[in-house]
Amino acid sequence: MKVSEVYKKKRGLSFEIFPPKKDTELRNIDATLEVLTDLHPDFISVTFGAGGSSNCNRTIELAKKIKYDYGIEPVVHLTCLHYDMDEIDCFAEELKKEGLENVLALRGDPSPAAAAKDTFRHSSDLISYMKQKNDFCFLGACYPECHPESDSIISDIKSLRKKVDAGAEVLLSQLFFDNDIFYRFHEECELAGIDIPVIPGVMPVIKAKQISRMVQLCHASFPKRFKKIIERYENNEEALFDAGMSYCLSQIIDLLVSDIRGIHLYTMNNPAVARRICEGIRNII
Ligand code: FAD
Repeated sequence: MKVSEVYKKKRGLSFEIFPPKKDTELRNIDATLEVLTDLHPDFISVTFGAGGSSNCNRTIELAKKIKYDYGIEPVVHLTCLHYDMDEIDCFAEELKKEGLENVLALRGDPSPAAAAKDTFRHSSDLISYMKQKNDFCFLGACYPECHPESDSIISDIKSLRKKVDAGAEVLLSQLFFDNDIFYRFHEECELAGIDIPVIPGVMPVIKAKQISRMVQLCHASFPKRFKKIIERYENNEEALFDAGMSYCLSQIIDLLVSDIRGIHLYTMNNPAVARRICEGIRNII
């Protein structure tokens, strides 16, 4: 099933997971998938190793497991910065052979482990190229607080429009902690004629060591209400878990009452997180 169909009928609930680093851990991921399956997501997306790292094949392995062992539609992330056309063709053939229909098309980030190739400069190039030969449903990434390489949110949204014109049918957002930023971004997208589902990506902060990494990687700003939680509980693991989950739940409920078309939850492969969030919105989504 192409996941763009989900949003035509209802609000979507989706999860993101990452492939474990070791083969042995891939076998152990069943415990996580059992819990996630019970929560009835519309799809589960599987990340792709940055810079074409060795866990890329595990993305397909895990996507197959999700589809065939658990009966849930997977979305395969695919980055293009480090690949040429032949490599992308190979990857596409593999997806088709395995019956995997949904691709989150990404540029990826430069990596010290591999030289970037000059073939695909943007995710829109990847979508345009793959679309010529394949019938996948393409999703794209978007950034409510602006992609760090863009001069302004307006130029970023202009580029986003190119991604949509190339064929992206759903946009999944970078995580954020301030819903007002997402609402402004959503409005700007509409003004730019982007009329496909723009789905907020949310993630509870439940560990102190996550925080600096998040600022570094995602450039997410922290609203005052959220900062107070961190300051108060960063050295109290259990309290931070409770407060981080409650903050995330209040964010999700606010998004849902504002008629947003779905929620994409960054699960961090932590079934307890997904379960607690889903229990909190069971009668709302
Ligand atoms: P692009 O869409 O190419 O955008 C990158 C920059 O170029 C932006 O500034 C944009 O405004 C500009 N731009 C875009 N198109 C054009 C154009 N046609 N002309 C001129 N400028 C343009 N990384 C991984 O390595 N693996 C993953 O699994 C992964 N999953 C992700 C999932 C989500 C939901 C998100 C939000 C990000 C994910 N990332 C992942 C991170 C992502 O690879 C990086 O954020 C990367 O820097 C940008 O990828 P992109 O596809 O958004 O790039």
